[in-house]
Amino acid sequence: MEIPSSLIDKLNRARRIALLFHKSPDGDAVGSALALKTVLEKKGKQVIVISPDAIPDYLQWLPGSRQILRADTSSEQARQALENADLIFMLDHNKFERTGKFLAAVLEQLIDQKTMVMLDHHLNPDKRIHYIFSDPSKASTAEIVYEFIQKAGLGPLDKDAATQLYTGILTDTGSFKFDKTTGQTHRIIADLIEHGAENAQIHSNIYDVNSFDKIQLLAEALKRMKIIEDCGASYIALDKETLEKYNYQPGMTEGIVNYGLSLENIHLTALITEKPDENKIRLSLRSKGKFNVNDFSAQYFGGGGHQNAAGGNFYGSLEEAVQAFEKAVKEHCNEIKNATE
Ligand code: 5GP
Ligand code: MN
Repeated sequence: MEIPSSLIDKLNRARRIALLFHKSPDGDAVGSALALKTVLEKKGKQVIVISPDAIPDYLQWLPGSRQILRADTSSEQARQALENADLIFMLDHNKFERTGKFLAAVLEQLIDQKTMVMLDHHLNPDKRIHYIFSDPSKASTAEIVYEFIQKAGLGPLDKDAATQLYTGILTDTGSFKFDKTTGQTHRIIADLIEHGAENAQIHSNIYDVNSFDKIQLLAEALKRMKIIEDCGASYIALDKETLEKYNYQPGMTEGIVNYGLSLENIHLTALITEKPDENKIRLSLRSKGKFNVNDFSAQYFGGGGHQNAAGGNFYGSLEEAVQAFEKAVKEHCNEIKNATE
């Protein structure tokens, strides 16, 4: 990574900095933004982190998490923070639209007036952003932020920043098991532990906090898993009545999608949910090997993400979404079946 000296100048001069990430934020989005906030504040900057919506419960223990401004409940404050910022950082997303309608519209208005910096690992970054540090070969944005902090002279990391980055890498690598986890990922992790990240405690904070409702919902979801055996695909569909029965909260379905890929000879899976507060059906897609769910989601569900993890939407009923998914799977049956050959 090369950081242009013009950006270093802008960083040095900036007084107010706004950081934002994608809606329905995950550990990588929140951890990356909070780590950058931690190091920038140490340099005397006024930093605000803006989230499109709620921070899930399993991330609320992160240092700084409770100071995050929510654009869905404090939209005018969020707009003002962006308008007042000397620099805007976009973390863990490749396009304005990933921040939701409101923030995307504000960012569109500001693109000619503000310097924007993108740190991200999704495919196809918006080319209009002034400084882009995008690397889809990286498992997490947090790894890119780590490198940015080093190269921009924003170190050394303190315990909070190490903890925030560790959380981003941990969650986006699926606890260091996904394909893109490299030697460098582990070298960074080693450095973060040496700078104070308490690895066992962080794992426990994130993964050992299930509510009874969440586990019951998982059990129900697993019972409903369907297999399209001929094509090597599986899916789980969850209707809103079921989610409500278990007192649905944001983040409650996190991780369920992965069970569909844990079956032998299954290379594509989907979690298809009818969320209580949304008028559309959400799809979470995961694949193994060569089958590209970024393209699959873009083709059928107006979404995207990465080669092996993507999201998308369907406008219609849950039953229609399931039918659309099954039809799409059949159209790519051989590709899916042979994805790991
Ligand atoms: P998840 O299934 O966990 O919601 O998302 C998986 C990955 O796909 C994440 O990296 C997320 O940022 C990306 N993603 C999820 N939904 C969308 C979407 O609607 N559009 C795009 N472009 N990416 C998405
Ligand atoms: Mn990410």
